[in-house]
Amino acid sequence: MQRIVLKSETDWEGWRQAARALVLTGVEPDALTWAVGGKTAPLPDATGSFHVPRALVSLASQAIQARDAERFGLLYSLVWRVNAGEKLLEDNSDPDLSLARRMALTVRADAHRMRTNMRFLAVPEDGGTRFLGWFEPAHFVLQANAQLIVRRFPDLTLSIVTPDGAAHWDGTSLLFGSGLRHAEDDEALQAWWERHRDTLLEQATEDVSVPEAEAVDEAPRSPDLPALGSVVLHATPDRAVLRSAREASACRRCPLYEPATQVVFGEGPADASVMFVGEQPGDQEDVIGRPFVGPAGQMMDRAMEEAGIDRRTVYVTNAVKHFKFTPRGKRRIHQTPEVPEIQACRFWLDVERTHVRPRFLVAMGGSAARSLLGRAVTIGRERGRPIQMPDGQTVFVTVHPSFLLRVPDEAAKAREYAAFVRDLKAIRALMTAD
Ligand code: SF4
Repeated sequence: MQRIVLKSETDWEGWRQAARALVLTGVEPDALTWAVGGKTAPLPDATGSFHVPRALVSLASQAIQARDAERFGLLYSLVWRVNAGEKLLEDNSDPDLSLARRMALTVRADAHRMRTNMRFLAVPEDGGTRFLGWFEPAHFVLQANAQLIVRRFPDLTLSIVTPDGAAHWDGTSLLFGSGLRHAEDDEALQAWWERHRDTLLEQATEDVSVPEAEAVDEAPRSPDLPALGSVVLHATPDRAVLRSAREASACRRCPLYEPATQVVFGEGPADASVMFVGEQPGDQEDVIGRPFVGPAGQMMDRAMEEAGIDRRTVYVTNAVKHFKFTPRGKRRIHQTPEVPEIQACRFWLDVERTHVRPRFLVAMGGSAARSLLGRAVTIGRERGRPIQMPDGQTVFVTVHPSFLLRVPDEAAKAREYAAFVRDLKAIRALMTAD
């Protein structure tokens, strides 16, 4: 039995070279064992070449990132059989091919989760900022996806930390080094980073053998979910807000927690002077775990930009923290929360208001206005004028951005959008008034 040792769990180049040499010298899959790390033995001398279909190369480059010890041998056996003339890729019933495809599928799902779910903390460093991301991958997806993320943010200094290792980007080179087994919370991650930063960066090295990032990026994306562009940079979240967000994830005050994927708490600076309140997380927010990242959030971002409001300076949340929906086939159709649900979740909105203490609250839509004002509100009648709360905070009512998405007529849509931007401009004027 011949033992092939690869340098790392994602030693794509090492596996390719070994597979090529072994196929060319006629070493059968059953005569091999594969291992990672340790003493390597020289590969057999091989001359010549053979053709591997692109689809199989792409499949292997993804499946090799699966956290499964059998993957190297499995992928080698596929290459071996294709080289022997089998029309393997046309045989959907082949168990080995199915297994490799399942591996690739779970890797793609994990990569997608990494690229859409990861949050970055802004950590001061050498007069600048390093963005520190934490992710616990199910598979070995760090290397290939770090390439994609730094392409998205080429000018930033950032580190992506996982239990398998960490990737560091300083604007010119991408290096890989040791990771952190477990990060209890953002505070623990930041403390670990500050304690070990110099050693971690000193020991980090280039890794030229990782699977091609393009191969991972070829993964079909769910049309419902934003891709890499949704990785958002955040200021370090306030500890008290984070603690409350964790507590809310165990909330059972109303039945909405049950079918939803997760609680979606608000986010933004804890000293924000304005808090925007929407109705509830939507389908994408429910999956991603962050407020206003779906189509309505993108509409809101656009309007805020036009009004001169930097979203990073405001706190954004919802009146109801779990997604209410009705399943329809594979789709989940939004359902407006009932008054008792809004009232039950007012507890968490009050918790956020206590932490953030905004001067102005913006109720976007009827549910948010009902939550904040404790009564039914006709948006058309009350929008745009300040409404005083008993505790001294001022509420402004406007439409929910999802309303703009639903206006069927293009001219009416443009009018409603302009009115929304006007409301936001009025709020911005107040934000900057003193
Ligand atoms: S919607 Fe609000 S009140 Fe209801 S379970 Fe979720 S967090 Fe609790």
